[in-house]
Amino acid sequence: MKAIRVHEFGGPEVLKLEEVPNPSAAPGQIVVDVKAAGVNPVDTYIRAGTYTFKPSLPYTPGMDAAGVVEAVGQGVTRVKAGDRVYAAGTLTGAYAQETVCAETQVHPLPAKISFAQGAGVNVPYATAYRALFQIGQARAGETVFVHGASGGVGVAAVQLARAAGMTVIGTAGTPKGRELVLREGAHHALDHRAANYLEQLRSVSGGRGADIIVEMLANVNLGKDLPLLAARGRVVVVGSRGPVEINARDIMGRDGSIRAMSLLVAPPEDLAGIHAAIYAGLENGTLRPVVGQEIPLAEAARAHKAVMEPGAHGKIVLVP
Ligand code: NAP
Repeated sequence: MKAIRVHEFGGPEVLKLEEVPNPSAAPGQIVVDVKAAGVNPVDTYIRAGTYTFKPSLPYTPGMDAAGVVEAVGQGVTRVKAGDRVYAAGTLTGAYAQETVCAETQVHPLPAKISFAQGAGVNVPYATAYRALFQIGQARAGETVFVHGASGGVGVAAVQLARAAGMTVIGTAGTPKGRELVLREGAHHALDHRAANYLEQLRSVSGGRGADIIVEMLANVNLGKDLPLLAARGRVVVVGSRGPVEINARDIMGRDGSIRAMSLLVAPPEDLAGIHAAIYAGLENGTLRPVVGQEIPLAEAARAHKAVMEPGAHGKIVLVP
């Protein structure tokens, strides 16, 4: 089969399409015939060798995939050959024609969700769910500001928050991105490149600010987020690409808090709850992954460049 292999950390050009042996399923494992693989920003940090988690070389990138169960190992009971599934992490890498997963990493994919959409389920929706509900403790009736709502995690956060009865304000850097944010359920869409967008947030929230801010770029925004919090408001840091300075007084006076998360350290019982909630949302139509670009597996390097460019529009997925 074909798979993307990385033999040295570096730029997108280190992603090479190679012929590798087809995998088999050991006890407790599942081989998935990958129909689409999701591209996440973290895949680029790992490829560059700058992330806390460094795989041993060579490796196949990718945590998210959707496809059909090809084979199951001894003792597997949750799925059988032929089932449509999405993978929440893999053992051998998702950027491949086939991938091996542990039984707990595989979840059913409802028939109404395409494989390309299925490849955009795991990291985006699990992160958005954890940020909003498990870390941020979001409640119906609250106002959430999704700071960076046009990409994978942002669209998921908008859909989840809207379905949970929250007032949703999202940002995007392009008109097309803001159209998407409104279409996916935000009550207001602001331009995070406009000079006055934070004043606009105050105005559309009736001067109250946000109960929760889901922050995709904390190194740029965290200091400016804090004065936008309502009393007892929470910022949940999801993304950050460098250091940032804050004034702690901006949260003290409002009993505010800064929380943060990494999906990679979420405990198994929390992950089980997350995927149960995601399945329900996919099935009842409140969660609808948006695929902005489908790129052939062989052009994984192009996908890695695209995911780091401005002008997000849902997910980028690779098609083997
Ligand atoms: P993505 O699909 O590439 O989307 C990036 C988003 O950030 C877009 O909505 C983009 O908007 C927005 N953005 C760009 N400049 C911004 C600014 N100045 N202020 C606010 N937003 C801005 O990425 P993603 O998959 O949604 O991930 C978002 C971030 O979260 C990444 O940094 C990623 O590494 C991180 N992440 C963390 C976890 C975790 O476990 N903590 C999990 C998943 C993702 P425009 O393109 O419209 O400008």
